[in-house]
Amino acid sequence: MMNIVNPASGEIIVTVNEDDSKSLAHKYLLLKSGQVAWASRSLDERIAVIEKFYQLLDEEIAHLARILTEEVGKPLQQSRNEINGARARIRWMLDHAVQYLSDEIVTDGPDLKELISYEPLGVVCNISAWNYPYLVGVNVFIPALLAGNAVMYKPSEYATLTGLEIEKLLNRAGVPADVFKVAVGAKETGAHLLYMNFNGYFFTGSYQTGKYIYERVAPKMVPCQLELGGKDPLYVTDDVKDIAGIAAGTADGAFYNNGQSCCSVERIYVHEKVYDKYVDAFVKEVKSWKIGLPNEEGVYIGALTRKEQPGLLENQVKDALQKQATLLTGGNIIEGKGNYFEPTVLTSVDHSMKVMKEESFGPIIGIMKVKNDQEAIKLMQDTAYGLTASVYSESMDRARQILAQIDSGTGYWNCCDRVSAGLPWSGRKHSGIGATLSHQGLRAFTKPKSWHLRG
Ligand code: NAD
Repeated sequence: MMNIVNPASGEIIVTVNEDDSKSLAHKYLLLKSGQVAWASRSLDERIAVIEKFYQLLDEEIAHLARILTEEVGKPLQQSRNEINGARARIRWMLDHAVQYLSDEIVTDGPDLKELISYEPLGVVCNISAWNYPYLVGVNVFIPALLAGNAVMYKPSEYATLTGLEIEKLLNRAGVPADVFKVAVGAKETGAHLLYMNFNGYFFTGSYQTGKYIYERVAPKMVPCQLELGGKDPLYVTDDVKDIAGIAAGTADGAFYNNGQSCCSVERIYVHEKVYDKYVDAFVKEVKSWKIGLPNEEGVYIGALTRKEQPGLLENQVKDALQKQATLLTGGNIIEGKGNYFEPTVLTSVDHSMKVMKEESFGPIIGIMKVKNDQEAIKLMQDTAYGLTASVYSESMDRARQILAQIDSGTGYWNCCDRVSAGLPWSGRKHSGIGATLSHQGLRAFTKPKSWHLRG
């Protein structure tokens, strides 16, 4: 039995049965036979089913957002935004499925045809995270289903109710019960799935777990994609004009969803010429936010999902202050019910401090003054991660020149903390392997077959 706890109150919402090796084996067998029938349906039929799911998400948004907020602690408006964001991604996938999943003719000669067909992998396993269960979920299970796979979906133990709602809605939309199954549970459930013989593993979560999964899956010789953590840098150059606007926008990039985004801005470098103005405006913005119960309207900083996180953040603050950082605002656990931490801004930071090197995944940021672009590039590159990097400048050429030197899957000019369905979402180094979204993400759940047709 597993307790589902509301992170804003510490109270148990409900207790659910966890899967064990026996129930997982049973679900797997069902998926194995269900996949064959699902793959034999036409792509148009599968698209029609997912189109229905897309509509149901809209119809049920109030109910789904309430559940999401209750179990992960994010403000209600941010839960609604997430579901709408997931719908936008599904829309893109629906609109591009035919283009990227149909047979591709490479040579069309009189006596030779060469073409590529995209066959489903089979039964795939998706072990997922809690911070954006809809967004990171649809990145995987929607293209997987469109391509004709069956899916064992293990939501994070912190987003179980959302996972079960997704299953209900997919079934209502017409995905057969033996084509999509939820594996309920935490680490042990995930570990069981690694013993089973899925035709592909798609993981979203931390580097530590991702590395463990990658090692376990390797001998199976099946695709294993990992979307992992980040320590995403942002650099404000000296030529920017609207410093207050940039400070407000980048503060949102660091603190939205309480900083619990894989592509949250995790460290900021600011050119010395604009540093003072930027920091003043940034702190003013952070102090303006309402902290409170996530289901209260107007709240921007809700509860942190995991109860361990406030302690980890407090530890990062202590470490920074011991090494002579300056605390401009926040820095403390908010005592009382639920997992709360004050939005925190640290300056006079350097790379000897945890806050500039380890993923914080919370409402905390270090801002560091730099002398020039070379120093900024060196610091931005000083990380084990490589998910995104961002540069604010009047000049696109200057920003692109800087970003080309950063080993990250995504580069942002004058924006941050955003994802587009049409672009590959991929991490480098400890941020992951493989890509979701875009045409690459649609085809990630297929195996190409080459056809040489002579006659
Ligand atoms: P986590 O690694 O703790 O857990 C992720 C999932 O793995 C959960 O479902 C968990 O139950 C399962 N799991 C844990 N141990 C396992 C094991 N030994 N075997 C099999 N499964 C196991 O990560 P989290 O706390 O859920 O998510 C936060 C992390 O995810 C952050 O590092 C964040 O940056 C990253 N993330 C990355 C992306 C991306 O797109 N790159 C998106 C969202 C989150």
